[in-house]
Amino acid sequence: FEKEIPGKDAAAGLARIKVVVRKRPLNKKEIARKEEDIVSIDCNGSALSVHEPKLKVDLTAYVEKHDFLFDAVLDDHVSNDEVYRKTVQPIIPTIFQRTKATCFAYGQTGSGKTFTMQPLPLRACQDILDLMKHPVYRNEGLQLWLSFFEIYGGKLYDLLTDRRKLCMREDGRQQVCIVGLREFPVSNVEVVKEYIDKGNATRSTGSTGANEESSRSHAILQLVIKKHSNKKDEKAGKLVGKFSFIDLAGSERGADTTDNDRQTRIEGAEINKSLLALKECIRALDHEQGHIPFRGSKLTEVLRDSFVGDSRTVMISCISPNAGSCEHTLNTLRYADRVK
Ligand code: ADP
Ligand code: MG
Repeated sequence: FEKEIPGKDAAAGLARIKVVVRKRPLNKKEIARKEEDIVSIDCNGSALSVHEPKLKVDLTAYVEKHDFLFDAVLDDHVSNDEVYRKTVQPIIPTIFQRTKATCFAYGQTGSGKTFTMQPLPLRACQDILDLMKHPVYRNEGLQLWLSFFEIYGGKLYDLLTDRRKLCMREDGRQQVCIVGLREFPVSNVEVVKEYIDKGNATRSTGSTGANEESSRSHAILQLVIKKHSNKKDEKAGKLVGKFSFIDLAGSERGADTTDNDRQTRIEGAEINKSLLALKECIRALDHEQGHIPFRGSKLTEVLRDSFVGDSRTVMISCISPNAGSCEHTLNTLRYADRVK
């Protein structure tokens, strides 16, 4: 990470889409159940195999091997710091040059999405604030802002103002405006930690318990760099660049479309729609198609300005290693495979 040279052409040479897979370790329960780790990772870091346990009709056991290749695969001992260095950090300088950057965490509930996403904005803020002090940017009047909201059942809620309901508007110039969303100025990483903790604590929690409910919402934390204007209203600064960090709903929730509970069914259908739309939008981006189908869901509509123009996207697909999660793991890897 060349802090010395912010670079006039930071985005050049960086792939528009990067797909990374992260495997979490077996947890205590899985170890206690003597579950097998069925995911093996090539130590060179791009190949991964899933060894699916199967039974023949005569009940003899065999293993079906599924091989995948990604931009990077991160084994279960890889630290959050290294995840940051391999995913988000290379893109940071680009948002000083009018690029929109996005990092998604995708995967089934319990696969490590929140564990992976939570520390990323914090480290990003540190690097952004450092770059702002660099001689190239020091006198540009740049300021960093943070917002944090969630999409739940197709509706938007501000996570930093007690889940106030928000609505979205387009300004006709392909800019998305979320009416009422609070943005907070950020000048040190300590406050960022507070915002992240507060937002995560505010994420949908219902009768069924915190993790259960938060698995049904997409949480979106945005860091926005603005150029300060001399107007009285500080927020009227001109947008320079933006980094969005998205902790997606549990991918298995998209299958809740036949559940007995009506609300669960509606939410499941919405999640399914948004994850499909997301895949289509990223694919369209990668193939530089003119038409990007962002109208497919609330999630992609909200991210509309991140899909047009010069943008960089990293998708971190989180997977569980245990045999019991095999089907979900294969679904996650196939989704990640199709994004590129
Ligand atoms: P998700 O957000 O996808 O539902 P979580 O991030 O909540 O999953 O992770 C589930 C559990 O696994 C948490 O207790 C978390 O601390 C743990 N975990 C996830 N990933 C890792 C990892 N790479 N290393 C160690 N523990 C992890
Ligand atoms: Mg989570």
